This record gives sequence, C-alpha cells and structure tokens, in this order.
Amino acid sequence: MNYQAQENRYDTMLYRRCGKSGIKLPALSLGLWHNFGSVDVFENGRKILRYAFDHGITHFDLANNYGPVPGSAEENFGRILATDFKPYRDEMIISTKAGYLMWPGPYGDGGSRKYLLASLDQSLKRMGLDYVDIFYSHRPDPHTPLEETMGALAQAVKQGKALYAGISNYNAEMTQKAETILRSLGVPLLIHQPRYNMLDRWVESDGLLEVLGRRGIGSIVFSPLAQGLLTDKYLNEIPEDSRMAKPHGFLKKEALTPQVREKLVALNKLAQQRGQSLAQMAIAWLLKDQRVTSVLIGASRVEQLKNNLDALKNLNFTEEELNKIEKVLK
Ligand code: NDP
Repeated sequence: MNYQAQENRYDTMLYRRCGKSGIKLPALSLGLWHNFGSVDVFENGRKILRYAFDHGITHFDLANNYGPVPGSAEENFGRILATDFKPYRDEMIISTKAGYLMWPGPYGDGGSRKYLLASLDQSLKRMGLDYVDIFYSHRPDPHTPLEETMGALAQAVKQGKALYAGISNYNAEMTQKAETILRSLGVPLLIHQPRYNMLDRWVESDGLLEVLGRRGIGSIVFSPLAQGLLTDKYLNEIPEDSRMAKPHGFLKKEALTPQVREKLVALNKLAQQRGQSLAQMAIAWLLKDQRVTSVLIGASRVEQLKNNLDALKNLNFTEEELNKIEKVLK
C-alpha cells in the first residue's frame, strides 16, 4: 500500500541542536544494525521505519556492514526509501559509515582513503542515494595516519557525497586531533557516535563528553539499552526471540552475569517508581545530559519503538532518583 507520512509527525518529538552546527536531530534516532538485514523479515523492518518517521524520528543510522549479510541493511533501506520515503528525502538525515571489514583484500577494512571513498560509493549505490547526510569513520585505525582518514571524510563532503563528517568509537584524545585536522581542511566535525548507556560509561571517565561539549561537537549515543539488557526482557530468563538468543546477534549470554541481573532488577524497580519502563528510564537518563544530542536506539518490533518513544514523556530526574541510580550502578 502506498505510504503517506502522518501529518502530525512533528508534534511530539523533541529536536536538539547537534553541537554548534545548523542541524537538529531528534532526541531518539533509529539504527539499522540489527533487524533490517537479509536474514530478517522485510515487512517488519518497513513497519518499524514507517512508525519511526510517523512519530518524528527523522534520523536513520546505517553502516556499510549492517545486515547480516553485510550490505543488506542498506539494500533494504534503499528499497523502502524508493517505495515509501522518496517524497520525504529532504526531511531525513541518513548516515552511513566505513571502518570495519567489508570486502576481502587489503582495501576493504580500516581507515584508508582508498577504502573509505570506495565504500561510500558502494553505500550510495545500495541505498539508491546521491548523497548521505553524515559519513562516519566507523572506528579509529591505528595503522593509517589520522590525516588520511580525516582527509577522506573531508573529500567526501567536498564532493557532495556527504553533507557532514562524523567519527565513531574514537577516544577523547583522538577526537581532539581529528577535529583539529578536519577544521584545518574546512570541514567541521559534526558529530561523534560512541557507545553510552547506564552499564557502559567510558565516555564520562575518558573525558570524551567533556571534549565534545567544549569543542561544540554533537553526539549520538549507540546501544543506549545495552542491546536490550536495560529493558525488562532479561529480568527472569532469556526470551527465545531476543537478540541474546539469536545466533547472529551481537549480545552474548555471558553479558548477563548474576551481578548484571541484580542491577537490572534494582533499576527496574526505580523505573517503576517513576512510572516508566526500564527502557524509558535508561533513555531519559542519557538525555539529561545536554551534550547528548540524540539517543540511537534499535528495535525489533514496532511495540518496542512505541515504548521507547514514550520515554520523552518524563525526562526529568530528582536528585534523589539520580542518587539511587548511582548507588545501583556503583
Ligand atoms: P539498543 O541498546 O537500543 O538495543 C536495541 C535492542 O534492544 C532491540 O533490537 C531489541 O532487541 C531490544 N529492545 C529495544 N527496545 C526495547 C523495549 N522497549 N523492550 C524490550 N526490548 C527492547 O541499541 P542497539 O545496540 O541496537 O544499537 C542501536 C544502533 O546504534 C544500531 O542500530 C546502530 O545504528 C548503532 N550502533 C553503532 C555502533 C558503532 O560502532 N558506531 C555499534 C553498535 C550500534 P531484541 O532483538 O532482543 O528484541
């Protein structure tokens, strides 16, 4: 059936400025790492994307290797763009990345100019796009000069194949260097994409958040629910249809130690006292920091997205609530 976006799609979403740029991102963005590949049910992915866009999620995050099989998330997204979202391209921020292994041989992995620019061309082809909004270096490559990797991002922007440059998984020190190089090339560093959630707070201890705030770089934080741990699904057992139970899922059973489960149970209680689900509290907890531009969630079904969007209904925490959360997380 032909898709027409809901007219009231911008009524409930919150948009936050990405660092010191001209771009605003939705407080919740949707990532296509899992659930949109060739092993997944195409129509389910389509429903999730439609629901997201209908509720103000304007930003969709991809990477060359998302699937499985690698590349298939971009292909599926491209199909849905062509059938459903074509009239809305200017209302969307679409990102992709290169940095992890994508094709055999010495040029299909890492941070070389050769790999990044060839990969971006392939991504554009798979998605049927002339340009992406954000192109990321997916991870730092210790064997490639940072000048080369940043030079490739700047070139992609200057060629008009990407509107903005981003980096992902870089620590505070490398982020400062990357930002300085990009600025010298006339291309500001728009955004950083790090993992950040209640169970993984390296961006605080490493000083990354502080650097981003000081330099006016935006951030979009991935795995905000720790791939589903920070929801009520693993409190008792491992559901059969969960990411942890799937053979191709990146969430392994070893992650659910008795100590982690104990924390999840305690956090779940605190969330209930706030009248929220644990997932909603985990999202709100990230958004309390203004340096976090957007929280990048995943979803395997529409109901999850719906639940997560409702996090926006209560983003405030009392000191007492924050102290109680800290006590659990210590
Ligand atoms: P989340 O931490 O949000 O985990 C999403 C998963 O949690 C869902 O697929 C679902 O898993 C479960 N879930 C979500 N909402 C609920 C809910 N309300 N109730 C119960 N279960 C729920 O994020 P992801 O780890 O998926 O990462 C999000 C995005 O971040 C990716 O798609 C990608 O775009 C980006 N990313 C970037 C990386 C990088 O290196 N730059 C690395 C990893 C991710 P289930 O299948 O069990 O239902």
